[in-house]
Amino acid sequence: MQFNSVLDSINVYEAGKPIELVVREFGIEPDKIIKLASNENPYGCSSKVSEAINKHSSEVYLYPDDSMYALKSSLGKHLGINKKELIIGAGSDQVIEMAIRAKSDSSQPILMNSITFAMYSIYAAQLGVEVIRTATREHDLDEFYALYTEKKPSIIFLCTPNNPTGDAIKADKLLEFIDKIDRNTLVVVDGAYMEYAVEKDEDFAINANELVKNFEHVLYLGTFSKAYGLGGMRIGYGVAQDEIIEALYKLRPPFNVTTLSLVAATAALKDGEFVEKSISKNFEQMKLFEEFAKDYGLEYIESFTNFITWVLPQTMNSTEISDTLLKDGIIIRNLASYSMNALRITIGTTKQNQKFFKHMKKILG
Ligand SMILES: *Cc1c(COP(=O)(O)O)cnc(C)c1O
Repeated sequence: MQFNSVLDSINVYEAGKPIELVVREFGIEPDKIIKLASNENPYGCSSKVSEAINKHSSEVYLYPDDSMYALKSSLGKHLGINKKELIIGAGSDQVIEMAIRAKSDSSQPILMNSITFAMYSIYAAQLGVEVIRTATREHDLDEFYALYTEKKPSIIFLCTPNNPTGDAIKADKLLEFIDKIDRNTLVVVDGAYMEYAVEKDEDFAINANELVKNFEHVLYLGTFSKAYGLGGMRIGYGVAQDEIIEALYKLRPPFNVTTLSLVAATAALKDGEFVEKSISKNFEQMKLFEEFAKDYGLEYIESFTNFITWVLPQTMNSTEISDTLLKDGIIIRNLASYSMNALRITIGTTKQNQKFFKHMKKILG
């Protein structure tokens, strides 16, 4: 069968391997497997979330509240913004897709970092939109500006902190850059890991409210999948001035977020303490990953997230190492598909991390 020719240029998103797959492939018992591959919160989610899901489970025969009133009210309050400045998606992934569809056509490229979240380019490819990238590993805003001036992209994606490298853009630099961009170019600021960056260093903290109040051409993205521990619920959001939100709404599928996802996210917002504890444990444990890397002569990228990226020397091979770990029931993310000889490891619990270090020591000798 012949399909739309844009499909020829699309690489299917390589998700972190699920635990079930390792159980089937290697016959390892599920409770012996540790997954440090998709940047989920290793401490789970707040008990308030589980309680709320149980309480509302009998409502699933009804379509969800499509106005998403409860969640928009509490998220609006949490971010200090108006409901009209919010759109909720089945993951912030869905908001990324709506943004690209709303703003781009094949006449203009979209601009992003050399190495960044894969979904931007996957959605662009689906729509036949050209992608241009900077050359530097970290976001180099001078390089972004030069490419912006030369290529006139319809959208500029800035991912801070960046996945899969973990580094972040200083807030003052980011705001200065955005101000230089004309108001007809959409700047998407993806803050999927912003909760972590805020705790690590306030110079890197982006405030969605401030950003959107000051700039009519910015769309800020947040998610419940990472620090809030709701990866399985598929829920995220976009924040922008009304004009952008109204455009995105034209592309939103009806009932795009399930009843239980809405309930879960609303409950998650009520337990700030859970999120804070998860984040402080994250950075405590991250130190061990930095020390380990130093001990074994691996380069690590300073991380503002719940994962760390180790760049390997030429004498090591990221694919071989991650395959070996997988046979031992340890799932991490090989970055070979990003043309990096590097490993991205989600910071797990103390126990998970100790197991990872033990196996890693064995591999590195
Ligand atoms: C995880 C992630 C997202 C999207 O997560 P959803 O689960 O779709 O909300 C977006 N951007 C980055 C950089 C991410 O790492």
